[in-house]
Amino acid sequence: MLLPISSEISSEGHLIIGGCDTVELKKKYGTPLYIMDIATIKNQAREYKKYFNFPDIDVDIIYASKAFSCTAVCELIKNEGLGIDVSTGGELFTALNSGFPPEKIFFHGNNKSIAEIEEGLFSKAGYFMVDNLQELEILDRLCGEKKIKQKIMLRITPGVKASTHKYIQTGQVKSKFGFGISGGTAMEAIEKAAGSKNLELTGLHAHIGSQIFNLSSYGKLIEIMLKLIKEARGKLDITIPGLNIGGGAGIKYVPEDKPSSIEDFAATVSGALEKYQKEYGLRLEKLYLEPGRSIIGNAGVTLYEAGIIKEIKSIKNYISIDGGMSDNIRPILYQAAYTAFLANRMNDGQDTKEDMKKHYSIVGKHCESGDVIIEDIKLPPVISGDLIVVAATGAYCYSMASNYNGQPKSSVVAVEDGKSWTWVNRETYKDLIKGDKRLYEE
Ligand code: PLP
Repeated sequence: MLLPISSEISSEGHLIIGGCDTVELKKKYGTPLYIMDIATIKNQAREYKKYFNFPDIDVDIIYASKAFSCTAVCELIKNEGLGIDVSTGGELFTALNSGFPPEKIFFHGNNKSIAEIEEGLFSKAGYFMVDNLQELEILDRLCGEKKIKQKIMLRITPGVKASTHKYIQTGQVKSKFGFGISGGTAMEAIEKAAGSKNLELTGLHAHIGSQIFNLSSYGKLIEIMLKLIKEARGKLDITIPGLNIGGGAGIKYVPEDKPSSIEDFAATVSGALEKYQKEYGLRLEKLYLEPGRSIIGNAGVTLYEAGIIKEIKSIKNYISIDGGMSDNIRPILYQAAYTAFLANRMNDGQDTKEDMKKHYSIVGKHCESGDVIIEDIKLPPVISGDLIVVAATGAYCYSMASNYNGQPKSSVVAVEDGKSWTWVNRETYKDLIKGDKRLYEE
């Protein structure tokens, strides 16, 4: 799966998503346009629920909203019965705005401000995912003052180095996130949390990174975390009932990508749980997962219009699109690879003889030479006005979008059963200056 699951090609050769013709979507909403396929999001959420339905342990699937956070997405996730992971006051606000049940909100963040902690407590967020000792102390004190008993989990740095880009590895010892096991900080935090009358230690959490294809990292993670839970039981005589193994499952961005299926992911997790619970003489009550990318990544595409076509004879061909790093920063941020299709001429891609195709770089309109969405792709000869659709942009594109070069953020439309509607309005130039003041205005 690279394009959304509801994708088809019409008799005119147009890409159809959710029963909607992308050429018509361009006319109705303009470009750049994030198109989100509800069927794919539902399918992924349901696959997680189906395969992580283990007989001997209760599993909660929690959508990591950093992948794509807007009110409608939170509402859809709520309707699918998942929990939600928020990592700032802003994501918390958005989840609450969707009517998300607060008890199913997991509040992350390595530097929650006092105001954010207060917001989480005030809104009765179900779980605080505590990242460091300072936060633990502040939360304990605030809960004491407010006479609240708050459920928490401790974010542990397990020392597992997932084989993915270094910017999206989070589980290694030197990580900025969480309590390290090797230096003893994790045990110190467990002792403090378990000893607090204001906090209920419901579990330990670890997230090793993102876009992970090799499932063996999860086996290692489960081994390390269960060992820590066993040690805590031995040293402190406490039972830690839950384990949260974070997110990280990889998705297909380019045809060569071979991500593991959710089914295989579940089998690996279940196998490791069985093995290491037995080995360490433990029985967990609850397992939690926090998938983001693998729920929403392939549900989204970005539609652009080809503008200037620049051909430097025998050197390089460029297709300039009407967006770029402001709507998809991942290629310039961590060399993420993408693939694209001609949405208005899907069949040409297949029908054009290989030697008639051209190599192109698909580049954005921003003032950076690095503003390249796809470095090298072979397409039939492209002309200005063609529609370029970049696949698998549902995760970490809209949520990382910026206004660089004064580019208003693109709108987000949802498609399902032949209908389309706006989830997020396109920004206007006025939105760009809505917070601006005059030179000496007070
Ligand atoms: N949980 C935590 C704590 C994260 O930091 C992240 C992503 O960075 C996720 C879950 C989601 O990861 P992914 O989108 O790779 O599934």
